[in-house]
Amino acid sequence: MLSTKFFSIDVDNDGIAILTWDVSGSAVNVFSEPAIDAYKTAIKNLTEDAAIKGVIITSAKKVFHVGADLEMAQTISSRPANVLFNIINEINGIFRTMETSNKPFVAAINGHALGGGLEMAMSCHARLVANTPKITLGLPEAKLGLMPGFGGTQRLPRLIALEQAIPMMLTGAPVNPEKALSLGLIDAIVPERDLLTEAKQWIKANPEAVQRWDKKGFKLPSGSIHSPKNAQFFIGASAQARKLTGGHIPAIPAILEAVYHGLQLHIGAGLRMEARRFVRVAKDTVSSSMIRTLFFGLNDANQLVRRPQGPDTKIFKTLGVVGAGLMGSGIAYQAARAGVSVIVLDTTEETANKALAYSSRLMEKAQAKGAVTQEKADAHMARITTTTHYNDLATCNIVIEAVFEDKTVKENVLKQVDAVLPPDTIIASNTSTIPITELSDYVTRPERFIGLHFFSPVEKMPLVEIISSKHTSSVTLAHAYDLCKTLRKTPIDVNDGRAFFTTRVVASYMTEGMALLAEGADPVLIENAGLQLGMPMGPLRVADMVNLDLVTKIDSQSKADLGDAYKEHPGIKLARQLVSLKRFGEKSKAGFYDYATKKPQLWRELKAQLNVPDATIDIDTIKKRLLTIQMVETLRCFDAGVLKTAEDANIGSILGWGFPPFTGGVASYIDTLGAKQVHENCLLLENTAGERFSPPKKLLELVSENTTLLTTQ
Ligand code: NAD
Repeated sequence: MLSTKFFSIDVDNDGIAILTWDVSGSAVNVFSEPAIDAYKTAIKNLTEDAAIKGVIITSAKKVFHVGADLEMAQTISSRPANVLFNIINEINGIFRTMETSNKPFVAAINGHALGGGLEMAMSCHARLVANTPKITLGLPEAKLGLMPGFGGTQRLPRLIALEQAIPMMLTGAPVNPEKALSLGLIDAIVPERDLLTEAKQWIKANPEAVQRWDKKGFKLPSGSIHSPKNAQFFIGASAQARKLTGGHIPAIPAILEAVYHGLQLHIGAGLRMEARRFVRVAKDTVSSSMIRTLFFGLNDANQLVRRPQGPDTKIFKTLGVVGAGLMGSGIAYQAARAGVSVIVLDTTEETANKALAYSSRLMEKAQAKGAVTQEKADAHMARITTTTHYNDLATCNIVIEAVFEDKTVKENVLKQVDAVLPPDTIIASNTSTIPITELSDYVTRPERFIGLHFFSPVEKMPLVEIISSKHTSSVTLAHAYDLCKTLRKTPIDVNDGRAFFTTRVVASYMTEGMALLAEGADPVLIENAGLQLGMPMGPLRVADMVNLDLVTKIDSQSKADLGDAYKEHPGIKLARQLVSLKRFGEKSKAGFYDYATKKPQLWRELKAQLNVPDATIDIDTIKKRLLTIQMVETLRCFDAGVLKTAEDANIGSILGWGFPPFTGGVASYIDTLGAKQVHENCLLLENTAGERFSPPKKLLELVSENTTLLTTQ
């Protein structure tokens, strides 16, 4: 009957309208401003047409609807608050028209219903979901620093218990249809082929549907918001939320406020309360930074937008790994998981077999959880073979070296790999610190050599830092990107330099913590300062995890390589002292921390045994130093040509070492604070803490041109 660019409407002989979302030119159904206008007109016409007995909302795509187009959400944040408020009110008006029209509206959910898509479905009088376990229903806005803005905070806790509704919104974690049914979020799960028939039945059985919260005497599923149980719940939820986000994400308290206050009001007033908070949250730099990096940036990286154009996509059938330690075994697991055959080489059969044990342990765990069938586990294991002979690697499409972090060992291995491979096969190193250009001396055709820096544990950490040497060809780089896609990893693309980007910057955080301790700062304050900034761990805990003998080894290697250019970091002596006390860090159950108890404790004797003075350094100064040093080191990576783009700096910092996601990443945070402010901080700290804080060239450029990292791309 009617067809628009966003949906079509058919009316059957019983007067039941089927509104089928199918946004043209998009893989998913989303609300854009023109789509909202068209939807408003359609709903007005349907509800005013006496011949229409009810409306089914469904989708012609694999997804049902995923809500607001994020492009719109991001541009919206730059518009005046009243314009934004009006758009939200438009949507709320449409959804209220559906609810109060007296005509039954049924959501026939045949794919993911997320964000505004679920909010639309919750505005229907019933929700039927196709019996497809892969379907998810959720309100993921908080993951991008936003809050549900089309009624989610008001309708969800009017449909399901607060104890379930609040975590769903705060974490953004979706539920599957079965869970949704048990919570009361949906009315039924039906076979996919019967979805429309069942929806029509529902309409016929409920010719005059009234939304439950519009009925007299409506009671919240969790009872009065003022009950002692609910009051207690809100106190706990607020404390928990603060603990999780450190108070850095405005959307989190805004969700709690909207629910708490909104549930005391009629739905209409609750929706207005939500809208006001949504506008505040959407206009905050936190949400725009998070959307930019964690949605657009991540999508771009995963779609390989920065891959060199030209070379054909490389298909990887067999991957070779040399070194079956923590990293080699992890890479082998990930490749086998992606359907790639793997040949793992180590010095002895016994050590090579560690890769099999690693995979088999993870497969058993997945099977125990029901995530993997026996058949799949068997197929996975069959893809991994082990060897001690280099000749067996000859058929691989790529070989990744993951042996000890020692140049001599790597030289020996790379020469042997080089000797058996055809000239075009890529050779990669997983080194975390040794310059790739230096390692490329050990292969006959350095243009086919590249760094592929995976993170530990490989199966969990999504990032791969691709490092080109001075000689790496663009074909090799393009194919390294292709491998990341095959292995389902997010690539960032950097140039060579000591410790590249991620290791270099996280090391600066770690050593700054040590320098603060060496000056006499309280170690408890140092660690808490890191956590308060939103870092996943304090700097001393990071040092223990990396292991202090490795920290000192890397430092000695740098000293040997850099000669006169080497400057000892004021924190490094503490790592040496601990190593001499046989406190190597987490692996020896003793370092800056003691690991005898379940929760690691800072070593009580730390200051006394390391002979550091007592000094009063306040927490704000500590925070400023821990944060500024990461910015300075990032800017130096731009100076050195290691970093090519701000986007890679952002993604690498969040996925690589857990730089606080609410900032949108380290480059985004430099832009948010403004180059001028960062420059002032540098000058202050250069005077008080040392020349490592002297403003980098890139920062001076940003200040003099009054610009940002993102706009200089
Ligand atoms: P590991 O000590 O766990 O494993 C190294 C493996 O290499 C061992 O199985 C060893 O038997 C094998 N090996 C040593 N010499 C060999 C040789 N000549 N021929 C064949 N095999 C040999 O080390 P790891 O932690 O897996 O680190 C490996 C590489 O990955 C290093 O370059 C390291 O810097 C890098 N890396 C480590 C991490 C991490 O968190 N551990 C993260 C990123 C990168």
